[in-house]
Amino acid sequence: MIIHEVFYFYIMSKTKIIAGNWKMNANSNDAMHLVKTIQNQVLNYPTNNTVIVAPPFVYLPLVSNELNNNSSVKIAAQNCSQFNDGAYTGEVSATMLHDLNIPFVIIGHSERRQYFNEADEILLEKINQALNNNLKIIFCCGENLALRESNEYFSFIQNQLENTIFQLDENQIKNIIIAYEPIWAIGTGKTASPEQAQAIHAFIRALLTKAYGTDIAQQIPILYGGSVKPSNAKALLSCNDIDGALVGGASLNASDFIDIIYAI
Ligand code: PEP
Repeated sequence: MIIHEVFYFYIMSKTKIIAGNWKMNANSNDAMHLVKTIQNQVLNYPTNNTVIVAPPFVYLPLVSNELNNNSSVKIAAQNCSQFNDGAYTGEVSATMLHDLNIPFVIIGHSERRQYFNEADEILLEKINQALNNNLKIIFCCGENLALRESNEYFSFIQNQLENTIFQLDENQIKNIIIAYEPIWAIGTGKTASPEQAQAIHAFIRALLTKAYGTDIAQQIPILYGGSVKPSNAKALLSCNDIDGALVGGASLNASDFIDIIYAI
C-alpha cells in the first residue's frame, strides 16, 4: 500500500527514473558493494526522482535488506514467470517477488524476447501476473537494426505495445514504466542520438494519449535504454519525453552509474 502511494506520487510529479539492470552479472560481494555505494551517494537525491537497481534473482534479498525504507533507491527483479505456481522448474513467480517486498519487475527485455522466446502473448501473461501481485512493471520495447534500417520501426513498436500494455485498462496502465530500448544500441556502444530517441518517445507518448488521454499519457514515465553512459546521459535525459534511463553495462560500475544518476 505504501509502495503504491509512493509510486503514484512519482508519476504524478513526473519523476525521473534511473534504473540499473545488472543482468547475469556480479557476485554477492559486488552486489553488496554496488548497492551500498549507490545508496550512500543518493542520500541528498531530489525526492521525486528514483533510482532502481535490478540484481539477479538470487541477490534480491541481500540487496533489498541493504536498502532503507525511505531511500531513493528501489529494487526490481529482472523477470517473472507467466505462471502463478506449480511444476515449472527454475521459474520465479510474481507472487514470490511480492512475498519478498520487491516493488518492481522488468518485463519484455529484448534479451528475454530473443534468447528465451518470450513473445507478446507470454509477456502479456507476465504483465498480468505482476499486476495481480501489485508489482510495478518496467516494460521494454524496441526494434532491431534491420527494422531500424527498413524504417518500419514505428509500426513495429506500436505493435509491441498494442499486443501487451495497451491491453490494460486505465488503472492498470498507471503501474507501467515504459523503457524504449533499441536493440541495436544495447551493449553495442552505439547510442540512439537524443533526436532519434526523442522521436520514438514522442511517438509512444502520442500512442498513450490516443489510448488513455493526455493526463495518463503525461504520467507514464518513458525511459531510454541502450548504451547510456556518463558521457551521453545528460543530452538524452534533457529531451522532453525522456523521463529517465534503463542502464545495463554502465550500471555495474558504481561511479559511472552515479554520474548517470546525477546527469538528470
Ligand atoms: C539493457 O540491457 O537494458 C541496456 C540498456 O544495456 P546497455 O546499457 O549495456 O546497452
